[in-house]
Amino acid sequence: MMSAGPAFRLAGKISRMATLQPLLTLGALKIAVASGAVPHRSVQQEVRDNLIARLKSGETLFPGIVGYNDTVIPQVVNALLSQHHFILLGLRGQAKTRLLRALATLLDEWVPVMPGCEINDDPLAPLCSACRTRIANEGDATPVAWLGRDARYVEKLATPDVTIADMVGDIDPIKAARSGLQLSSDLTMHYGLLPRANRGIFAINELPDLAGKIQVGLFNILQEGDVQIKGYPIRLPLDVLMAFTANPEDYTARGKIITPLKDRIGSEIRTHYPPGRQAAMSITAQEAWILREGGAPPVELPTFVAEVVEEIAFQARQDRRVDRRSGVSQRLPISALENVTSNAERRALACGESVAAARVTDVYAALPAMTGKFELEYEGELKGAEVIARELVRAAVATVADGYLSHLDTHRVIEWFDLGGSLQFTDTTGATDIVAAAQQVQGLVELTQQVGIPAHAPEPVVAAGIDFILEGLYALKKISRSEDRGYHAGESPARRPSRPAPADDPDDEPPQGGGRKRYYN
Ligand SMILES: [Zn+2]
Repeated sequence: MMSAGPAFRLAGKISRMATLQPLLTLGALKIAVASGAVPHRSVQQEVRDNLIARLKSGETLFPGIVGYNDTVIPQVVNALLSQHHFILLGLRGQAKTRLLRALATLLDEWVPVMPGCEINDDPLAPLCSACRTRIANEGDATPVAWLGRDARYVEKLATPDVTIADMVGDIDPIKAARSGLQLSSDLTMHYGLLPRANRGIFAINELPDLAGKIQVGLFNILQEGDVQIKGYPIRLPLDVLMAFTANPEDYTARGKIITPLKDRIGSEIRTHYPPGRQAAMSITAQEAWILREGGAPPVELPTFVAEVVEEIAFQARQDRRVDRRSGVSQRLPISALENVTSNAERRALACGESVAAARVTDVYAALPAMTGKFELEYEGELKGAEVIARELVRAAVATVADGYLSHLDTHRVIEWFDLGGSLQFTDTTGATDIVAAAQQVQGLVELTQQVGIPAHAPEPVVAAGIDFILEGLYALKKISRSEDRGYHAGESPARRPSRPAPADDPDDEPPQGGGRKRYYN
């Protein structure tokens, strides 16, 4: 027993086996608990103690949770210090689930449990008859197992078809018949998710989707420690920290949550979307898969492209055609940015370019990553998700371009178009062609440096800058652009591209590969 002292507290993964060796029996555990080497406390006490230690150390509480430091996190801390069960109320894509998962980091690395017990019984206070019988028979020689913190976080997405059997458990008639036990004995019980989360954290997402009957079951367990299954009372004084999430409107809607359960939830905490574009961009940068390995050319993501992608979500959240009750997930810019990156990769591979530089016009290729991330109001439904998404992109480009271009001298470029000049690109036009075409327009290539493109940047990056300026001037209605699929016989000669036509001038050929053409004029 000599090493069951402070060495246990310091036990990391490497020395764990060695230091836990003396703690493999109930007798050893009792001594360790009595000496204070192993804490014996409820989950809520454990989370509170570990939280206090972390607050004292000044460590980041929930790494990877961005934008909640002054709002949500202080309230979560208060709820945990109060040892409350709590609920996060927020729209979709507000990192609610992520925040709940981060709670697991506040658990001890290991806790002692009864080996083989389905409900992780505490060896010092077992709930189930099987463990109690075993301890009665084996005494201090009863073996003890250790449960890691990751196994102590259980999460369930509530849906209307979740049953009491799923959540709490069921009486197993076969077990009962075989053992000849009374049905009400817990030995005949097939445990559901909640008892299996005993001595850990149990998170239920979208709580209002849970049927009233199940909510009653949850309440009974939280309040009384017992529950009725098929009419039989089962005593289950579980040791669980419960955390929930819900859409705020669903949660407050009358009759969605039974009042006694609501009363039992100690704190209601509102989450929110990132307050500004910068915070949102850092979330997206953290979550989106941009740094890719493999044979593809390295990706260059100009800041203005990332800003446009982010701005789409802000535009969508304030658009009256988009349903505000369900919100616009932060996953919209995350998935969109991944698609934008892929479109840049695809073009770089097609054109044999050494750098995959993302362009603002690549954002249009990311519509499939956006249309499923918001719900439409009736007015929006009439137009369709794709049309709305396209309009949101355009509005986002205008907002971002206004910030960049409003203080720049773009009049020479605009004038060139006013005098009848036009340019034509598709989203697979290579950088060399774009830069060559742009060189005809006085001042255009030079402007790229003023939107942040370095002077000696690779051609694809310069092309991305040109693309942004043209798309920005178009979004700001300084120049016009027509989009079609290439069948444009009616186009007047004056609107033909004025650059020297290469042999494969797409103007004279049917459209290739469905690539959408854009004419700036
Ligand atoms: Zn047990």
